Formats: sequence, structure tokens, C-alpha cells
Amino acid sequence: MQSTMVEYAKSLDEQDALGTYRNEFYIQPDIIYMDGNSLGLLSKRAEKSVLTLLDSWKQYGIDGWTQGEHPWFYFSETLSEMCAPLVGASKDEVIITGSTSANLHQLVASFYRPEGKRTKIIADELNFPSDLYAISSQLSLHGFTGDEHMKLVKSRDGYSLQEEDIINAMTNDVALIILPSVLYRSGQVLDIKMLTEAAHERNIMIGFDLCHSIGSVPHELDKWEVDFAFWCNYKHVNGGPGATGGLYVNRKHFGGKPGLAGWFGSDKEKQFDLSTQMIPATNAGAYQIGTPHIMSSSPLYGSLEMFAEVGIDAIREKSLKLTNYMMTLIEHELSEYNFVIANPRETEKRGGHIFLVHDEAARICKALKVQQVIPDFRSPNGIRLAPVALYNSFEDVWKTVQILKLIMKEQRYKKYENKRDVIA
Ligand SMILES: *Cc1c(COP(=O)(O)O)cnc(C)c1O
Repeated sequence: MQSTMVEYAKSLDEQDALGTYRNEFYIQPDIIYMDGNSLGLLSKRAEKSVLTLLDSWKQYGIDGWTQGEHPWFYFSETLSEMCAPLVGASKDEVIITGSTSANLHQLVASFYRPEGKRTKIIADELNFPSDLYAISSQLSLHGFTGDEHMKLVKSRDGYSLQEEDIINAMTNDVALIILPSVLYRSGQVLDIKMLTEAAHERNIMIGFDLCHSIGSVPHELDKWEVDFAFWCNYKHVNGGPGATGGLYVNRKHFGGKPGLAGWFGSDKEKQFDLSTQMIPATNAGAYQIGTPHIMSSSPLYGSLEMFAEVGIDAIREKSLKLTNYMMTLIEHELSEYNFVIANPRETEKRGGHIFLVHDEAARICKALKVQQVIPDFRSPNGIRLAPVALYNSFEDVWKTVQILKLIMKEQRYKKYENKRDVIA
């Protein structure tokens, strides 16, 4: 059977051990959702855990901190234990707290210690802008400027980074390195293990932004001895819009003082002594600041349960099959329409989404949406398509490429302006 036939897609779905998880999610009829790398879909279990936590507020009022199915005082720690296998760390090295940008601020405030000549922070020119804004503003708190003290590693092709170029930037004026695990546009996976070894050989601390890998790609942060990491939980982790984020701090840094302190970073036994002197927790919990966002954390319980059942390795295996299948179909069906597959082809270098580059990308995305396929557009000319292991099927991938072909063949995209919407 040819891979371009729908029967082939259906046969892949029949063999798919994760296929039944699709029924766990709310998928609107006739919609093909390919945007799980921006906002994962709601699952029935996440909905249930939201309702459970709402109910504990309803029933217990203030006593919900210690009573109910998930006492709020320990809820961040409960979720951290569930999340730890996704990053390859022990439960005390992880805390569910804050947001990506806020956690990055916390970690730079805690681990950026400029000394003598070592004052620079390495980042890369392809990183998500919020990360660069945060690093720049942290530098200015030290009286430095982003222009002079942030060393941006350049991309050779506009899409990817070479580990070699990053390592070459690790000179003896560098105090800290912040990089993404998976690049948000091209989906390139960086070699975290190799980069961490290289940084440590040069006495440089290194941290990673896991926004585009967590829930999609396995990590071994502990084994690789990464110093710290941070992420959001609304993309591949399906924690809902504005879901509480997470951070990881390697145990060798336990006992240090958080750069941005607040009472929820206290040793939990001592927190309610309400002493004027803070006694920080001796684990990653020390990097929390204020009262945890219980409502924004509540979907994570239901969602992380599914990750625990399935395991991140099985998710990665299916994700790679989906993206591989998508690339095969794109090459077969869209060869005459000038698309460039700009994500890496190699299995180990490819994250959870496909990145298609096309001059008409903005309006092709608009035409896709009209045809009920949800992609996302990344300015100026990129289309991200993320077939997600837990809820997308091989047939979804097949249909997406067929619809894309129709849009190109009939030039349906020409009905729209080639400009991004406010949110893209
Ligand atoms: C999604 C994403 C963010 C978003 O930051 P928030 O603080 O969660 O809004 C930051 N960095 C990267 C690399 C991302 O992919």
C-alpha cells in the first residue's frame, strides 16, 4: 500500500498503541488541530482535576490548604513529583511554579554571578524574544547592557544553530549560558548533554528553556548535570492557557539563596513561623516566590496522570513517526509548490513539530484555518504544524497535507492578505 493513500494512514492508526488517548481529549468535530506546540488541548482528566480543586474551595474555604483531595499547601510538590520524569530529574529538583519568563528571571537572579572578567551571558539570536528581554533586563540590574554583555550566538542559515558555534562562544568572559532545548521555530533539538559538558569544562553555568520539548521529547537533566531549566506547561503538557510553569535546579545547588525571595520559598515546616528571617527550602522549592496559582495548576494533575501512564518514551516514539510521515507526504504531494521543510530531518535533531517555510505562509495559514486545519504562523514566513502523540492521528496528518495541497492547487490562499493577525 502506498503511503500517499488514506488507507495507509488508517492502517498506521490501527497499529497505534496510543490511539485510544485521542478519546481522552476534547477535539471539536471536523477540526484538525495542529497547534499543540502553542496551546495543548483540554483533556477530560484535566477538566476533572480543575473541578475537583474548585470543589475543595467550595467545600472547605480556607481549610482547602490542608484538606480535600489535593490540599493546596502541598499541591505544587505533588505536581512536581508527577512532572519530574518528563525532565529526567528527581522530585526535589523540580517545582511547578511561576511562568517561563518569571522563572527565567528567578534563575538568572539566582545563578548569574558576574565576577571580574566573567560577566557575559550567552544566548542565541533564534531564541524566543521573551527570554532575551528577561536576560537583558537582568543584565541592566547589574549596571550592564544587553548589547555589550549578552553574547548572541548567530545562526548560519536563519533556522538552526551549530553546537560547535555555541561552544566556540564559551570564552573566559562568560558567566552563564541560557539556551532553548528545542528551537521554537525550526524545532531543532540542541545537544544538551554535549553543551553542558562543554560549559562545565570551562567553569560556566548552563540552563535550558524547555518550553518546546517538555511533554514531547525526553530529557535526562539530572544525568547530564544541567544546572537549571525552566518551562511552561500549556504547550505539549496540555495544562491550559496560562498554566503554571515549572523549573528545575540541580541538587548540587541546593542550599543556595534564591535571587528573588518570597515566603513560599521557605522550608515548608518553618514557613508559618512567619519569622522575619527567611529559611529557604533545601530543594528546588526555594525558588517559589508567593502563594501558588492553584487554579492555574489544577488542570496539570489530570494531564500529568496521562503522561505517567503512557511514559515520555512512547510519546516521543509516536511523535517522531507522525512528523516523519508528515514530511514524507509533504515531499510526495507538495513538491511543486515551493515549500521548504526547514526543521532538521534527523530523528535526534527533530522536535515535535514540522516547520514549513513559504513566501505566502501568512495567507496559507488563513486558508488552512478556513478549511478547519489549525496551524500556527511564525513571522515572517513560517508555518508550524505539530501532530501531537496523545491526540493526533496519522489520518489527521494525511488530511492536513491533502488540504494544504488543495489550497495550493486552487490558489485559495490568494483570497486573503499575506499579513499576520494580532495573535499569530
Ligand atoms: C512559549 C515560550 C515562552 C513563553 O513564555 P511565558 O512566560 O510562558 O509567556 C518563552 N520562551 C519560549 C522558548 C517559549 O517557547
